[in-house]
Amino acid sequence: MQTMSTTSVRFDPSASPAGTKRAKRSRPETRHPAPPRRWVLRVAVVVAAAGLVLTLVSGIGVETGGEWSAPGGPAIFVGSLTGLVGMYLALLMVLLVSRIPAVERVLGQDGLVRWHKWLSPWPLSLIGLHAVFIVIGYAEAAKSGLWSQLGTLVSSYPDMLAATVGLALMAFAGIVSIRAIRSRLRRETWWVIHLYLYLALALSFAHVLALGPSFVGHPLTQVLWSLAWLATAGSVIGFRIVLPIVRSLRYGLTVREVRVEAPGVVSVICAGRGVERMAISGGQFFEWRFLARDLWWQAHPYSVSALPRPPYLRMTVKTVGDHSAAVARLRPGTRVMVEGPYGAFTRDASQRRRTVLVAGGIGLTALRALLEDLPPGSQPVVVVRVNKPEEFVFRSEVTELVRHRKGTVHEVVGDRHKVRLDAKVLATMVPDIRQRDVFICGPIGFVEGVVAMAHRLGVHRSAIHYEEFGF
Ligand SMILES: Cc1cc2nc3c(=O)[nH]c(=O)nc-3n(C[C@H](O)[C@H](O)[C@H](O)COP(=O)(O)OP(=O)(O)OC[C@H]3O[C@@H](n4cnc5c(N)ncnc54)[C@H](O)[C@@H]3O)c2cc1C
Repeated sequence: MQTMSTTSVRFDPSASPAGTKRAKRSRPETRHPAPPRRWVLRVAVVVAAAGLVLTLVSGIGVETGGEWSAPGGPAIFVGSLTGLVGMYLALLMVLLVSRIPAVERVLGQDGLVRWHKWLSPWPLSLIGLHAVFIVIGYAEAAKSGLWSQLGTLVSSYPDMLAATVGLALMAFAGIVSIRAIRSRLRRETWWVIHLYLYLALALSFAHVLALGPSFVGHPLTQVLWSLAWLATAGSVIGFRIVLPIVRSLRYGLTVREVRVEAPGVVSVICAGRGVERMAISGGQFFEWRFLARDLWWQAHPYSVSALPRPPYLRMTVKTVGDHSAAVARLRPGTRVMVEGPYGAFTRDASQRRRTVLVAGGIGLTALRALLEDLPPGSQPVVVVRVNKPEEFVFRSEVTELVRHRKGTVHEVVGDRHKVRLDAKVLATMVPDIRQRDVFICGPIGFVEGVVAMAHRLGVHRSAIHYEEFGF
């Protein structure tokens, strides 16, 4: 193993797999986070649905017969209601990405992203419809043309200019979210576009209170709506900014060593204070921010590739773009900030007694740590799909961990067009797959393919768990 720093730290997970007597003697047990409380999610869904009903009631309840029958009345009503509901759903989307810990623990990264993606077309299209119907309604009421009414609204109504800029930013983010466009973007470009969305919502806030029929002359609704906005902004600031800073200061992590694991793949071993108190499960990840000259402003998600070995913590990165390439050049002593640990891709998600872990390429990192977290004798089956033999990073660690758990490892090596991992191959390797939890990790296309295979082989959807290394 090649080392890029001058001194090599003693981080050797293969020598002491967790769950063995030797591991217990050689290091403190890793602290696990509290198990996910699924009722929290049910309560959150009920509260969100109640909020939606209240929003609808406040939008419909203020409409009078006279307003409805006035010129432009129906269009203004539809415009106001779509705007109100669209804004409410936009707040929910922001709450989802604020990663409220109790909700994140249940849904994990993939669950949050799935809900976020499912929800995202609604606020954007409802707010777009709101703009169209309001212009039509006001034009009918004023008996003017659509373009001249649009000009009047933007130039002479309070806070409308800011709201229009907000709408343009939302539309831009919506277009960029189309998968074909998004997949060509760098992660940090995508992140900056998401910051525009926060700005868009902030810009729209004032016009809602100043002009919305549900708010003008309704102080209680104004107060409730303002509280909802404050709570949402507070969640983002508290959970995404303040908490990570406090935790990072507490751990005081610094890079100790950058270790080459395979061509284009390095492990970064960090050391810090109180790492033994870090509650983390195998399969989880952090958003890592390295305080080096070109990297301090961006945080990227990388899974831990082993359970912590206090004072050490290890992550492993494959070079795919500029951040992952810069990670390989990190110098020992670089300070590190972490946000997390995040993710529900852990043993707590298990529904069955036995598991099969399917890794595509660098997806091995998360599965390697998850494997370490499985109890001795759990007989896991590990399937590793790589293009070249040297891409199977941690082969010896995985083999050793599997041996201690009385499981088996299968390697599928070669060009994916020539050497296929399909449902038939998977069923041959894991004949009892229907009685197992299936954990899948790797690039998006790989994960989607294996999830489909697991469905085809009759694995119940509650027993299929995955983490996609993409965005
Ligand atoms: C929950 C989670 C955990 C992750 N854990 C790990 C980990 O342990 N180790 C690791 O190496 N990576 C991991 N990733 C992926 C990692 O975050 C990205 O590879 C990294 O952020 C890319 O940043 P970049 O600036 O280097 O590349 P960018 O410039 O952002 O992207 C360059 C190009 O590569 C594409 N791309 C991005 N990620 C991948 C990928 N994984 N495979 C193929 N193409 C990709 C992008 O779409 C883009 O076209 C994880 C991702 C998630 C969501």
